[in-house]
Amino acid sequence: MSTHDTTLDRAAAPPPGEAGGCHGGRETMLEAARTAGKTDSIAQMLADYPRGPHDQPQSMCPAFGALRVGLRMRRTATILSGSACCVYGLTFTSHFYGARRTVGYVPFNSETLVTGQLFEDIRKAVYDVAKPDQLDAVVIINLCVPTASGVPLDLLPKQIEGVRIIGIDVPGFGVPTHAEAKDVLAGAMLRYARLEAEAGPVARPRGVVLGEPTVTLLGELFPADPVGIGALLAPLGLGVAPQLPSREWRDLYAALDCVAVAAVHPFYTATVREFHAAGRPVVGSGPVGVDGTAAWLEAIAAAANVPADKLDAAKARALPAIRTALEANPIKARVTVSGYEGSELLVARLLIEAGAEVPYVGTAAPRTEWSDPDREWLTARGVHVQYRASLENDIAAMQDVRPDLALGTTPLVQKAKSMGIPALYFTNMVSARPLFGPAGAGALAGIVAAQTRGAERFARMVEFFGPVGSGEGAGYGWTDVPKEPAGWRDRTRKVREARAKARANQAMGS
Ligand code: SF4
Repeated sequence: MSTHDTTLDRAAAPPPGEAGGCHGGRETMLEAARTAGKTDSIAQMLADYPRGPHDQPQSMCPAFGALRVGLRMRRTATILSGSACCVYGLTFTSHFYGARRTVGYVPFNSETLVTGQLFEDIRKAVYDVAKPDQLDAVVIINLCVPTASGVPLDLLPKQIEGVRIIGIDVPGFGVPTHAEAKDVLAGAMLRYARLEAEAGPVARPRGVVLGEPTVTLLGELFPADPVGIGALLAPLGLGVAPQLPSREWRDLYAALDCVAVAAVHPFYTATVREFHAAGRPVVGSGPVGVDGTAAWLEAIAAAANVPADKLDAAKARALPAIRTALEANPIKARVTVSGYEGSELLVARLLIEAGAEVPYVGTAAPRTEWSDPDREWLTARGVHVQYRASLENDIAAMQDVRPDLALGTTPLVQKAKSMGIPALYFTNMVSARPLFGPAGAGALAGIVAAQTRGAERFARMVEFFGPVGSGEGAGYGWTDVPKEPAGWRDRTRKVREARAKARANQAMGS
């Protein structure tokens, strides 16, 4: 799903929920999927990943999240079933992000789709790749069209010669963001592993100290962060379990074997459901700044039944070091934060503790109970927290508060720079640094200071270029304002009205 141009003519835009994405109309596709036998799968998706307040956040194809989780696991093959254009975009993005792994693909045409041959082709592909000497699992992802057509991945064998077969539906019309698509696959794998562990002995996880009580971290974190969190947990007598999404199958057993789960990224609804089914308590938020770390250690200690003296020792070791790091790296700037990673609220907390003014935080993630502590802390300090934030929300906030620095997605950063506002891409710059404990407390200040120093340079550039290359002057070769084809607005309006009328008539007749 490509990001929308903010100059999109709203008058020509389709009504919410219809033709709002590259899959050509969410409601139509949802109805098709239900009719094709996916009622339960669709109902679960809509319950796990609620929409609103607006129609859908703009981001890349959501399925990328699930694909990426599969591609990052050892001894796991990932196969896509979908339209060639979707698969092209997804494989391109995977390799752009350094997958270094083959993305499997089962193509289809109208005939193989309607006759059911596609399912047979997928089945054959799964049998072809499921080699137990090479693989622990094969993941098959139904994209939009096969999901809407009801391709029944649940009818695939559950395992072939010991290789687990995991079939999931990840359509853009049911899973709003690529973040939540990670949860679809992580949750499906954890469920499989939980049922295996409940059925009998399983493989011993690598690198795990047997008998040590551990906390499982949920979310793709900067590599130094689990180590830093391990240091925070050590005085509690707790270790860090392999985090989820995991890097190999047997990690799932170790993750399940924890005493508590830390939902550091707050959108792993299906995964949390499996932990709850395994009887594991789940704690929200994360150890950011002094307040956040104190509250998080308390919540973990309560969940893991750690005695008060150990909790005091953990706080005594961590909090002064974090306070010192924050004082040594003060941030004096007004910053807006937006992104789709799930850590936006945590980043905003850290910025505020370091001295920044943060009037707005937008996240593409939905509101869940696991970010409630952060939302409450931020709103108590006058921050506007926007869940399911759209690009339009983020831009409007930036225009409103004129920050010294905007942290955000690519199109937001682009817009900020065109306005002469220094901006940083959240994924590449913020998520590529530690966030937790003393290391996190010092990490953000440097980039904020470096970027805000560039404000004067941005202002000069905006003044120098003026309106050149913007608006209708964008692109190569234009000397005049492009002319609209005569009457096209009228024609498209009439087509939309006719469609709406036909839908209304159909609804009345049904
Ligand atoms: S799978 Fe769906 S959401 Fe993804 S690119 Fe294809 S049509 Fe768009």
